[in-house]
Amino acid sequence: MEFNQTKETGVTEIYTQDKLYIRGQWVAPIDGEQNESIDPSTGKVWARVAFAGVRDIDSAVSAAQEALAGPWSRWSPAQRAALLRRIGALFEAHAERLAELESRDNGMLLRDALANIRVQAQYYYYFAGMADKLEGRTIPIEDGMLAYTTRVPVGVVGAIVPWNVPLLTMTWKLAPALAAGCTVVVKTAEQTPVSAYEFARLLETCDVPPGVINIVSGIGPTVGARLVAHPGVSKISFTGEHRTAQEIMRTGAVNLKRYSFECGGKSPHIIFDDADLAHAINAATHSSFAVCGQSCALGSRLLVQRSVYTQVAEELARRAGRIRVGMPKDAAAQMGPQAHAEQLSKTLRYIDIAKGEGATLLAGGARISEGDLGAGYFVAPTVFANVDNKMRVAREEIFGPVVSVIPFDDEEEAIAIANDTDYGLTAGLWSQNIGRAHRVASRIQAGTVWINTYRYIRWAIPYGGFKMSGLGRENGMEAVDAYLQTRSTVVNLTGNYPDMYAN
Ligand code: ADP
Repeated sequence: MEFNQTKETGVTEIYTQDKLYIRGQWVAPIDGEQNESIDPSTGKVWARVAFAGVRDIDSAVSAAQEALAGPWSRWSPAQRAALLRRIGALFEAHAERLAELESRDNGMLLRDALANIRVQAQYYYYFAGMADKLEGRTIPIEDGMLAYTTRVPVGVVGAIVPWNVPLLTMTWKLAPALAAGCTVVVKTAEQTPVSAYEFARLLETCDVPPGVINIVSGIGPTVGARLVAHPGVSKISFTGEHRTAQEIMRTGAVNLKRYSFECGGKSPHIIFDDADLAHAINAATHSSFAVCGQSCALGSRLLVQRSVYTQVAEELARRAGRIRVGMPKDAAAQMGPQAHAEQLSKTLRYIDIAKGEGATLLAGGARISEGDLGAGYFVAPTVFANVDNKMRVAREEIFGPVVSVIPFDDEEEAIAIANDTDYGLTAGLWSQNIGRAHRVASRIQAGTVWINTYRYIRWAIPYGGFKMSGLGRENGMEAVDAYLQTRSTVVNLTGNYPDMYAN
C-alpha cells in the first residue's frame, strides 16, 4: 500500500491496494479485477484498487460464516466491547490519514472529512457500551414453567455502503453488528473504495478474529448482488437508493434475509414567519449545500411562509453566491466537487429539468468550468425559487447542491406540502412558537424532525426513514436490535409430562 508525497517533485503517487481483505488477510482477487479511482476535484485517476468478483464474495462470506462459528462466538460481551473500543481509537489516532484518503476519493472537503472521521470513534464507544447490556427477559407464565429470552446474533451481515460518506455509513453498520456478535462482509461503493481498505489495514493492529470483518469493493449490480443473493448471508444492511433497496429485497428473498435500509430523502425544511430568521437562514444555507448536496438528510425542499418568502429566498441566493467553491484540500474552500462524473451529470440534468419546469433560477445553475476547478466535477450552489411541489425538482432526490424554495400560506399547507413526498427521512422546522413547533413536528411523516436546528445527527439518536426512505433505524439503542434475534427458551420445572393418549 503506497501513498507517497515525493518531496522533490511534489507529485502525489498513485495509491494502490491490489488485494482484498478477507479472513484477516490480504488476498488477490480470484475473479475480480483491478480498478481505478478518480479524484473528483481533478477528474484524474489517483488510486488503483482491487475489486472483488462473485467468487471473492463467496470466499468472504465463507470466512464470515466460519468466524461466526469459531472462537468469536465464545468471546464474552466484555471482550467484544473492548474490540469496539480498539476500533474506535483507530479513528482518533489515524483521523488525518483516513480523512485525506476519503477526501481524495470522494471530494469531501478535507476539514469536513476530518471531523467526520474523528466523530466515528464515538459510534464505536457507544456500541461498546451496549455490547454487555443485551439482556433477555424472564417471562412469568405459570407455576412450574420457566420461560426466558436470550438475544443472539442474526448471523453473517452484508454491509453495503454508498459513496457520499463511505466510512461513516460503514461505521453505522459495523459498530452495532459487532456489538451484537455478528460477522460482517463490507462492500464499499465502486466510486469510493479507498478509505475502507485503509481502515482494513489499520484493523490488523486490533486483534480482530480472522473473518469477523471482511472488506471488499466491487460493482453493485453484480458483486453487491451476489452478497445479497448468498444464502450464507442472513442480513443486509444497506445505504443507497430506494430502487436498489427494492432490488435487494427481491434478490434477498431467496433465504428471507433481514434488512436495514437507509435510502434517500427529499426533506422539507420549513421556515415559519415567526422564526428567528437569521439563524433559520444560516441553517437553510447549510442544509442545502452541506457535503456538496450529497447528503440524504439535505433540506432540499425549503418551505417558506409567504410573508417572509422573498426575503428568505433572496438572502439564500445571496449566501449561495458567496460560498467559496474550491479544492477539497484548500482550507478556505467551503464546498467541494460532486463525488463522481455520473453524479455531476445527474445534478446538471436536474438543473435543466427545473429550468424547463418553469422554476426561477436565483443562484448558480451551472457547472464551474473556469480555472483550476474546470477539470473537476464542481457545480455552483444553486437556488430555485417559485418551485411547485409537483415539479420533478421537488419530488426526486438530486443529491447535488440544488435547493428548491417553495412558498406556503399557513401551518396546514406547510404540513401538507412537507408530507406530499414518497420520502420520509428527515425534516426541519423553524418557529419561536413552542406550541406550533411541537404541533407541526408531530404531524410530519419523517424519521427525524429537527426544531430550530438542522442535520443534527449523533450516535445516540435513532436515524432512519418513514415511507420510501428506509426500513429500521441506525444509531441509538434500537440500532443493535437489527443485528439480533430473540430466542425463547421454555423449561418445564416439574419433571412431569402427561400422557396425552392415556385411556
Ligand atoms: P447511488 O445511486 O447513490 O450510487 P446505489 O444504491 O446505486 O446508490 O449504491 C449504493 C451501494 O449499493 C453501492 O455500494 C453499490 O455498489 C451497491 N449496489 C448497487 N446496486 C446493487 C445491487 N443490485 N445489489 C447490491 N448492491 C448494489
